[in-house]
Amino acid sequence: MANIVIIGGGLTGMAAAWELERLRIPYTLIEVKSRLGGSIISERRGDFQLDGGGFLFEQYGAWDFLPELGLADALVSYGRYRDGELVYFRDGTQMLVDALAKRITAPIMYRMAVSSIGQLDARLFGICLENGLALHARGIIVTAPARYAEHMLYSLDPELGLALLDYRYDPVARVSLGYRKAELAALPEATGLKFLEAYTLPERVPADHVLIRAGVRLDETITTPGAALAKVKRLIPATPVVEWAAYWSEADPLTRYLPEHAAVMDMIDARLPSGVVIAGSDYRAMRLDQQVEQGRAAARTVAAYVGS
Ligand SMILES: Cc1cc2nc3c(=O)[nH]c(=O)nc-3n(C[C@H](O)[C@H](O)[C@H](O)COP(=O)(O)OP(=O)(O)OC[C@H]3O[C@@H](n4cnc5c(N)ncnc54)[C@H](O)[C@@H]3O)c2cc1C
Repeated sequence: MANIVIIGGGLTGMAAAWELERLRIPYTLIEVKSRLGGSIISERRGDFQLDGGGFLFEQYGAWDFLPELGLADALVSYGRYRDGELVYFRDGTQMLVDALAKRITAPIMYRMAVSSIGQLDARLFGICLENGLALHARGIIVTAPARYAEHMLYSLDPELGLALLDYRYDPVARVSLGYRKAELAALPEATGLKFLEAYTLPERVPADHVLIRAGVRLDETITTPGAALAKVKRLIPATPVVEWAAYWSEADPLTRYLPEHAAVMDMIDARLPSGVVIAGSDYRAMRLDQQVEQGRAAARTVAAYVGS
């Protein structure tokens, strides 16, 4: 039996795992994909360092967890934003995932999807996987996106599942294109894209080149990341030297911005049995630092319960 099970190996789940490692509490991490990082993935293409997911982050105050992870010099400022700054990771956001992954020594069950969780008795939970496997745990940290957590929580308490029913996203493919500056004219306006931006990031884009990042909504005409890539290339009359498109159906959660969302989360937290905590970007952790801090806090809460 696993003492604690973490469901989801994105940033929040990895931060929870890191905290349990620090507390020396045994746990198992379950991740449906074959890699850790969730919505964070970086790739080196030629001399370009690209991010397919999270790229620019709002920072308000120091992120103390970075020096703890050996990443004291990882951030580069992109400029002022509100009363803080926008920052990016020098070698891609994957730097943070890699640093956290190095701290994880517990078993990781990759390519395993949790389908439901239930309470077996006052101190014991059951976790069912889509492949038919079942696990027992004394504590659970749920960090999967709401559209999957909805099913998991329904079996624990239907009110919890219903509270996350129809959680909305704005699925957008992220397209990255690298061009020689001399070949690139001004970017077109009124493109119909979610965004189209040009970057010359000294650490990540070679001299005399420009990185174009575009957000393309998939719809009935654009159904694949490849089609999203082609759509952006058609808008820009130059030949890219690198290209990449990445797509997530849970990119850009919308429901978390609704005014009633905080009250829904209060209800969920109040109804969850002791020993089960939900955390992550679809819930209360909007920013990267909040995902790390809330993942770690979830680990401390569940660890305290399991040890009580
Ligand atoms: C394309 C894209 C671009 C982004 N750009 C930015 C940006 O520029 N700035 C910014 O601040 N934020 C950005 N974000 C948001 C940021 O990346 C996320 O908020 C953050 O990475 C979320 O981490 P998380 O661990 O909470 O969730 P996730 O990364 O979604 O992790 C959840 C994990 O749970 C796993 N999982 C799902 N279902 C199951 C299951 N049934 N069983 C087991 N595991 C399961 C998933 O595979 C995933 O690994 C972006 C996100 C995306 C997708």
